[in-house]
Amino acid sequence: MAINAFTVDVEDWFHICGVDDRLPSSAWEGLESRVLPTTRGLLEDLAAAGHRGTFMIVGWVAGHFPELVREIRDAGHEIGLHGHWHRRVYELSPDGFREDLRLNIAALRAAGAGPIVSFRAPEWSLNQRAPWALPILVEEGLRIDASRAPVARVGSPSYPRRPHPIATVAGALLEVPPLVGHLAGHAVPLGWGWGLRKAEPATVIAAIAANNRQGDPAVLTVHPWEIDPAPPSIRLPASLAFSHYYRLSGFRMRLREVLAGAQFGPLCELPDAEAWLRA
Ligand SMILES: [Zn+2]
Repeated sequence: MAINAFTVDVEDWFHICGVDDRLPSSAWEGLESRVLPTTRGLLEDLAAAGHRGTFMIVGWVAGHFPELVREIRDAGHEIGLHGHWHRRVYELSPDGFREDLRLNIAALRAAGAGPIVSFRAPEWSLNQRAPWALPILVEEGLRIDASRAPVARVGSPSYPRRPHPIATVAGALLEVPPLVGHLAGHAVPLGWGWGLRKAEPATVIAAIAANNRQGDPAVLTVHPWEIDPAPPSIRLPASLAFSHYYRLSGFRMRLREVLAGAQFGPLCELPDAEAWLRA
């Protein structure tokens, strides 16, 4: 049983939504991949802290580096989906989304992954702009979704903040949201992205403890590229540049402090998830 969940969206530094004009998937092969050393760094930090987590792996990464999938599996982590081509769900057609899911699952299976029950959409894009995607997840065998951020812009502050079932025409999913904080009266990222990189470790640890006192888990999520000591970068629109490059400096050290300050496990071992998967 896990009190909190630690998740990693396993993607390379060039897997950025909304930049098809300057980084099309056809160009990925020619770029310097950094996903192996950076993901291994996270595996080391988790092992040092004595935690396991959930690694949501982009299918393209699994296809190019199947040994990484096996390393993650052999270290006891849960393996989940993060899209094959790392596309925003609301920019795909229903058939296109289903095809992408199947490619993602096939790439992970071919690399040696075991059962797969968890999904996270790139850029939290399984939101109110793509409600049609939820039943497709159920039809393709997923049981847990972690794609709906309870904050404005990428999601909605109206989304519940603790694990909750979502009914669909194909059956129900367990939705597991990430940890939010507050800034000037607004819900903002705290367990991921710029919010996690901005926050001091003690602030994050205190927020996790406050959730736990209420009987709720806290869910954190990071990317391998966030701990890259020499991250490649490209010119991005302002909001994307902020979410990708803000305060990367020193993040790995701050993350290690957070990992030392709370107990984490995989999504599928949260109490709500264990009960959900048993039912
Ligand atoms: Zn992603």
